[in-house]
Amino acid sequence: MEEQKELLKSLNKKSTVNDIQEYIKKVITLRGFTNQRVQDKMLLLLEETGELAKAIRKTLPEATIDYSKIENYNNIEEEIADVFIVLVSICNELNINLYDVFINKEKNNVERKWRINGKL
Ligand SMILES: [Mg+2]
Repeated sequence: MEEQKELLKSLNKKSTVNDIQEYIKKVITLRGFTNQRVQDKMLLLLEETGELAKAIRKTLPEATIDYSKIENYNNIEEEIADVFIVLVSICNELNINLYDVFINKEKNNVERKWRINGKL
């Protein structure tokens, strides 16, 4: 626990994606999750994504929600962080540098023409 707290102190607002990816690699090891296979992490990502969907849905006035359980639903910010942690963990498992793949994908995306409300 102390080791994780010390590790967390290494991050700050100026930390890069690479810093965060490295942090998650280390913290996953400290928490003993190194045996998780990529398919285990993928299921976890779907679970966390579902929790995020639930957290968003509970804020919608038109959503049908079991209000007796409303306190059990986490908030959007926590679930976004969970999704991000698991996603980065998948990158680590597959030896994918998140910054590199993000930049490469965005280089493609900026060349695309997006149709919004029927207009290019
Ligand atoms: Mg969660």
